[in-house]
Amino acid sequence: MQAKKIRFGPGGNPDSFYAAGHKASVEMPACLAGQGLNAYEYQCSRGVRISQKLAEQLGDEAAKFDIALSIHAPYYINLASLDPKIQDSSKGHLLKSIQAAIWMGARTVVFHAGGVAKVDRELAMVQAKAILLEVLEVSYAKFGPHRVRLAPETMGKQNQLGHLDEVLELCSLSSQLLPAIDFGHLNALHQGQIDNREAVGKILETIDRKLGREIADNIHVHFSPVEFTASGEKKHWTLLNPEYGPDFAHLAYHLAARKMSPTIICESAGRQGEDALAYLQCYHEFVRLTA
Ligand SMILES: [Zn+2]
Repeated sequence: MQAKKIRFGPGGNPDSFYAAGHKASVEMPACLAGQGLNAYEYQCSRGVRISQKLAEQLGDEAAKFDIALSIHAPYYINLASLDPKIQDSSKGHLLKSIQAAIWMGARTVVFHAGGVAKVDRELAMVQAKAILLEVLEVSYAKFGPHRVRLAPETMGKQNQLGHLDEVLELCSLSSQLLPAIDFGHLNALHQGQIDNREAVGKILETIDRKLGREIADNIHVHFSPVEFTASGEKKHWTLLNPEYGPDFAHLAYHLAARKMSPTIICESAGRQGEDALAYLQCYHEFVRLTA
């Protein structure tokens, strides 16, 4: 079993993975372990297409190398849509993601709750909650008892469902919902105001207050440098572009001071493995400082 400990890894496969001649995601766990990383988010952003056999192979490799797996569910999910067809396909995407997670032994399925440009935010929340509860119930009926948690992600644009308070409200529904806190998105949404130690501390305290210390210390985290405009998130960059925040050191300070054990997934564009490693090293520096 995966003991509770802080974990770092990439979302998807870095460019260097392919440059080194690797082709299949099933080769990722061994590569990550060789670099000292111990988490991997498998991307199903364009649809869940992995076969049971491949998912199980990836799960076996991950178990062998102590890599915690998570899945990023398809971008097509929209729990706020008023179109019954989109509601149904969103449920389908979540259920398929849960099925793939069960096959590979992944504990977490991260998803975007959807856009709210054309709908009332409060109504969208009511609908999103109903759909999530239904999906969890159906997943039990279909797949039997499982430990997969659905993790709604904090989003980087104003017109997306996924402000911090919305994510926490969704997660208060069930112990099978876990907040996925994307600090780059939050920083983009709040126009750079999350790029300091106090603001990051406030976010962690808010999670603590709303969902309890246990959840707050074990959240799922996305971290990467994100460019933004007045309407929010524009583009993911890498640590080679220091002009884009937020600075991981602000979170690393709290991770060490609070002795947290979240999973930190880096989504830097193309350099997600290299940057995950840089975040891990930054974290270790703070552990040394606070020891
Ligand atoms: Zn995402």
